[in-house]
Amino acid sequence: MAYDRLNPSMDTGSIDSAPGTGPIPETGLRPLTRVVVDLSAIADNVRALQSLCGEETAYMAVVKADAYGHGAVRVAKTALAAGSDFLGVARISEAVQLRDAGITAPVLLFGDILPDQAVYAASRDIRVTFFDADTAAAASRAVRSAGLTLKAHIKVDTGMGRLGLTPGVDMAAAIRDIAAITAMEGIDIEGVYTHFANADSPDTRHALEQVALFSKVKTALAAENIAPPIFHAANSAAAMTLPRSRFDMIRPGIAMYGLPPSPDTRGIVLRPALSIRSAVIQIKQVPKGFPVSYGSTYVTDKPTRIATVPIGYADGYSRLLSSRAHMLVNGQRAPVAGRVCMDFTMIDVGHIPGVRTGDDVVVLGSQGTETVSADELANHIQTINYEVVAGLTGRIPTRYIKDPHD
Ligand SMILES: *Cc1c(COP(=O)(O)O)cnc(C)c1O
Repeated sequence: MAYDRLNPSMDTGSIDSAPGTGPIPETGLRPLTRVVVDLSAIADNVRALQSLCGEETAYMAVVKADAYGHGAVRVAKTALAAGSDFLGVARISEAVQLRDAGITAPVLLFGDILPDQAVYAASRDIRVTFFDADTAAAASRAVRSAGLTLKAHIKVDTGMGRLGLTPGVDMAAAIRDIAAITAMEGIDIEGVYTHFANADSPDTRHALEQVALFSKVKTALAAENIAPPIFHAANSAAAMTLPRSRFDMIRPGIAMYGLPPSPDTRGIVLRPALSIRSAVIQIKQVPKGFPVSYGSTYVTDKPTRIATVPIGYADGYSRLLSSRAHMLVNGQRAPVAGRVCMDFTMIDVGHIPGVRTGDDVVVLGSQGTETVSADELANHIQTINYEVVAGLTGRIPTRYIKDPHD
């Protein structure tokens, strides 16, 4: 069968075999560099978002991109136990990973779906997204001939400019397409949704325009007696700041991980769940004029002590952080000295007394009263906190702590 070539279970195999994602062999050596995920923070953030939005609003925990670097399966289980109704992912391999882990909750795939994958999705009870009628028709034919039913949501593009039917360009055509997809055999339309382009901005005009257009679609569909049960739109920022955006379900990602969607988003107290911890593997006393790391871009301007930490850009600690970021040692900030290497980064600890080999280093997170936040690292490299956590690679093992269900 054609879908053997695309069989998502093959993707799962390669996910599982990625270095660092499996159990750490018991060598007697502790992994010096590890991501630590506090699952109780995830559970608290889920509950905080739910109580903000009300119990009548369903909750989809967005766990795409390995739960933004936090680990999809453990986060999904934690979010479901904390009351989440749905899970959201971007790729079919991500949906399959959840199913293979024994998770039976509803899973919605935001991303693309090929007709032969549609059969596979139906067989694993994975809800898919349709953004056009042709793809839906091909999927309908495929699942019918396999004797299956595929649950699906239809995406409308109300201003994001990414995926979906475009009611803002041609309302009648969008309604016609939704009606056609809804009538297709083998397809069970459970929801209609849209996605915001600017919900994280203090200027709410564009987001409110999107809400208005989405509401118009809902009304126009109702006039045709088309009323799928779940209309949904809100990402974290919208859920937190725009009550009118919540419709029947919210889809928070970043806020569930305890990170603000933007510096402007307020509303609830979030607890960051992820930290990155490592240790000093060498410390050396060096004179003034000592060059550090590739390119010798950092040269000590006085006698100092340089500590080497085993984290690098292959772990997702961006090379753009070279000579910019700080790490925490003994509760104090230590500047990154010179270029971040593939596997190692040096920090200047000359001002921190008593640093020794083996001392804990916090690369991201808190130590004592000091914190290096994902936003701080993001600011150094002109990106957003999302990319800092989602960009961590599978090489770093993850330790889960405070699982509320352990
Ligand atoms: C990623 C994503 C979300 C979650 O967005 P956050 O800003 O992380 O809350 C919601 N919906 C869709 C369709 C997404 O792709």
